[in-house]
Amino acid sequence: MEPSTSRSLSVVVPLLNEADSLRPLYDRLIDSLVEVGELYEVIFVDDGSTDASSSVLEDLYRIDAEHVRVIQFRRNFGKTAALNAGFAHACGQVIITLDADLQDDPAEIPAMLAKLDEGYDLVAAWRTDRQDPLEKTVPSRLFNFTVSRFTGVGLHDFNCGFKVYRRAVTDSVRLYGELHRFIPVLAHQQGFRIAEVPVQHHPRRAGASKYGARRYAKGFLDFGTVLFLTTYLKRPLHLFGAAGLAVFGVGTIINLYLTILWLLREVGGRTDIAAIGTRPLLMVGVLAMILGIQLISIGLLGEMLRYFTFRPTEEYAIRRVLGETRIAGG
Ligand code: UDP
Ligand code: MG
Repeated sequence: MEPSTSRSLSVVVPLLNEADSLRPLYDRLIDSLVEVGELYEVIFVDDGSTDASSSVLEDLYRIDAEHVRVIQFRRNFGKTAALNAGFAHACGQVIITLDADLQDDPAEIPAMLAKLDEGYDLVAAWRTDRQDPLEKTVPSRLFNFTVSRFTGVGLHDFNCGFKVYRRAVTDSVRLYGELHRFIPVLAHQQGFRIAEVPVQHHPRRAGASKYGARRYAKGFLDFGTVLFLTTYLKRPLHLFGAAGLAVFGVGTIINLYLTILWLLREVGGRTDIAAIGTRPLLMVGVLAMILGIQLISIGLLGEMLRYFTFRPTEEYAIRRVLGETRIAGG
């Protein structure tokens, strides 16, 4: 691999009420970045802090205006929004994200960059010995196991804030809501190469955690979204239509069966057969047919949205081009 001398690094730090951690974090970051020896900037995104964070950041900016950038939100918009803002303002070719609470150790940055240089586009930190309370680590394990199994992205630790990206990754993943937990899945779907590096993890010493165990409930809901986004988003009828046809088919079979019974009784005079009008099965059959039609209609509506919002250049992701190609419209 080529030596990484002419690169520029942007460190993006999302933070909410982390006043006591910021100064030591800055010091450790600088130590690590100076050791790496590349151009760098550190972007602090203050996600609506109400403690002394903003004045600490002002001080940091004053002493090191060459490297420090501060983006201050008007109010708390969430970590995903903070990361989006950081990505949008970052100038570097490589972007590093880490939490502000010193649970992630900047000293691991060189190892993460070395991994990136092996030819990866995204390197995630894997907290092999996570220093958080049990009510967080247990759901986290379940979450990681499930996401990894269903998506085929072989990471142990999706939700760690410590990651290193090539710019192309942060430019192309679309993050909204709380989808920051799924960046590796979204990147994988675009064909980016992903690796992980085991890191040390530290207990939180200052400030309070912003997320409880409840986040994992949201995380699993978002997982449903992400599964849809990465599989059937571009062909909604394949999902809804298939389910709709199956349900409609079951309804049709049930109702055909009931129709035969009706004919046997009313036309064939078989009075030993019960009247179908009061049978629960009739209700099931009718409901299944209606539900099936509704599912198919939803799929067709999805296809309609898709048709009108379709942009050909968003249907693929190019790794590289050799030779000149025509620029559209040029
Ligand atoms: N954070 C943020 N906005 C929020 C919540 C959290 O920017 O709405 C930051 C927080 O300051 C920290 C990082 O996101 O830098 C991770 O949060 P936390 O340490 O509370 O999560 P945990 O480590 O407990 O999972
Ligand atoms: Mg933390």
